[in-house]
Amino acid sequence: MSDGIELRKDYLLERFSIISHKRKLRPKEYKQGANSVNVGKCYFCPGNEEPDLAIGSINENGRWVVRWLKNKYPAFDAGEKDGARNDGFYFKAQGFGYHEVVIDTPKHGTKLFELSQREIVRLLGVYRDRYQALANRPGIKYVVLFKNSGPNSGASIVHEHTQIIAQGFIPSLVLEKIDAVRRTKSEGCPYCKIIKQEAKSPRVILLDKNFVSFVPFAPRFAHEAWLFPRRHAQSLSELDAKELESLALMLKHILRRVDKLTDSFNILFYSSPKKSDGLHFHVEITPRTSAWAGYEFASQDYIISSPPEESARFYRA
Ligand SMILES: [Zn+2]
Ligand SMILES: [Zn+2]
Repeated sequence: MSDGIELRKDYLLERFSIISHKRKLRPKEYKQGANSVNVGKCYFCPGNEEPDLAIGSINENGRWVVRWLKNKYPAFDAGEKDGARNDGFYFKAQGFGYHEVVIDTPKHGTKLFELSQREIVRLLGVYRDRYQALANRPGIKYVVLFKNSGPNSGASIVHEHTQIIAQGFIPSLVLEKIDAVRRTKSEGCPYCKIIKQEAKSPRVILLDKNFVSFVPFAPRFAHEAWLFPRRHAQSLSELDAKELESLALMLKHILRRVDKLTDSFNILFYSSPKKSDGLHFHVEITPRTSAWAGYEFASQDYIISSPPEESARFYRA
């Protein structure tokens, strides 16, 4: 076991916990329950780079415009993928993987939706390239790409950034999605059908010939938004230039509206682990207008305060 990071499995369920003793050391810039921010030195700002963490960057006129680096407080650590032990009810293994951070913009305090469409396309291109590079590494089964933004999203750093975790197992929610797709596989991809139906439903937000966005019929969060390529693309790395443009435009529009609701949201990218798993690539935006509470934790079902059809109307306005 390296650095006290451990992967553990629930007694019976296909559910995993990553026990990391490092993460509790993360700095917290947000004050509890307040929107104000403790501004110390921001390590994501130009001039404060930590060279030993650097991986790469896109530069313009001698300055970086997007950069990516190793997470200083990783949820997973590279190393040998071994040490898996199964002892009755107790499964554990080394927390093998890679944890990177993409700094979306050099501008401190600038939000994703405030970037131009061209800048967002460039950023999505970086996500796509890092996704592909990490997915190809030996022992990696899945790459989780996500953004935490705002004090109630789980973000600990104000400066807009995105995280990429490459890991040696498939997350339980992705397994559930793949299983559901597999059950209906004889009739073709269910998401391809869902997209067609939602494009004509009162839950639609935006659509063009490449992408469709809508509020899901049964969301996990109020005002949740899903974005799908119309074509049956299965991963971020399969999206072409036109699709990235549409995705950028929809993200920009939806996030500008989310900003009217709350300062906190997550963006979650779902790719198919393997081609044969058949999962239709999609993006979920989860605004944090309220916290999950006892019911959600007890049941893993969700009480939603706003009808999806009303949220869609809000987004279309
Ligand atoms: Zn900064
Ligand atoms: Zn599909």
